[in-house]
Amino acid sequence: MNDNTPRNPITLLGLGDMGTALARTWLAAGYPLTVWNRTSAKAEALASDGAAVAASPAEAVAASPLVVLCLLDDASVEAVLDGIDLTGKDLVNLTTGTPSEGRTRAAWAEARGARFLDGGIMGTPSMIGPGAGGYVFYSGSRALFDVHRPALEAPAGARFVGEDAGHAALHDVALLSAMCGLFAGISHAYALIEGEDIAPKDLAPLLSAWLGAMGFFVGNAAERLTSRDFTSGVESNLAMQVAASGTLLRTAAEQGVSTELIAPYLELMRRRLEADPASHGGEDTTGAITLLKR
Ligand code: NDP
Repeated sequence: MNDNTPRNPITLLGLGDMGTALARTWLAAGYPLTVWNRTSAKAEALASDGAAVAASPAEAVAASPLVVLCLLDDASVEAVLDGIDLTGKDLVNLTTGTPSEGRTRAAWAEARGARFLDGGIMGTPSMIGPGAGGYVFYSGSRALFDVHRPALEAPAGARFVGEDAGHAALHDVALLSAMCGLFAGISHAYALIEGEDIAPKDLAPLLSAWLGAMGFFVGNAAERLTSRDFTSGVESNLAMQVAASGTLLRTAAEQGVSTELIAPYLELMRRRLEADPASHGGEDTTGAITLLKR
């Protein structure tokens, strides 16, 4: 954004840790900002930085064409906007939710005469601000996204991922779910060395480098899921990996470590192999993904 970009007014409902970070960035970038928060002290703390503090959600919504929500969950969005006239408003919902909640909330907003954009924030409050590294997935009204893009890009990068209002949440949750598996594996690794003469800080760079090297699986799996070819060019086949998984489980037992974080994935590989050892034994592990969809 350059200095000639118009700063259209913004209303922000919700000033928790994330909402406050967004508010401070918009204020620093010169946007006229109206804020409301259930606990009014958090809103009043922003008044000295130039925010207009609304006495009610209705007053806040009336103040700007662009209304951003950053509340705890979808139920709080429903509670805060209940009974408020949204005709002609552009609603941007940065509250974390499921894809279904995003779609339902979009239909709900449109039925009240508002355009709707759902957002999934990829970053923590300290990653909000120019160059701080955070970004937001957006989906829903393309027209809304295009009109308000400069304002949306002020606090964090903006990636539009389609007009299906559920797709921002789906991208957000896909990335967070992958992170769960990553953190689970890292946690298991540190538990294995606990009590041994290996310092966590010495294992850390080895873990980082190894996980980086294994990052090739992300793109590799995407290609295989597209081509449905799970066997060409496989270097570490499923039969070998299932056999090796016994070593992972026995080592955990030797070290007195629960296998609860890694066993489900190893079990999935075993099930894929067992279903048809002759044809699946030469696959990589991508084929196991096909067992997950219910
Ligand atoms: P906080 O818990 O710090 O703040 C929650 C906000 O929601 C507060 O403003 C709170 O008001 C308000 N709220 C909760 N329930 C209600 C209700 N029933 N009616 C009115 N207001 C309500 O959360 P964050 O600010 O950290 O997170 C906000 C959103 O951003 C969440 O959906 C979260 O998942 C998402 N997010 C957060 C990240 C983070 O690292 N913090 C990262 C990515 C996304 P009050 O102050 O009165 O309690």
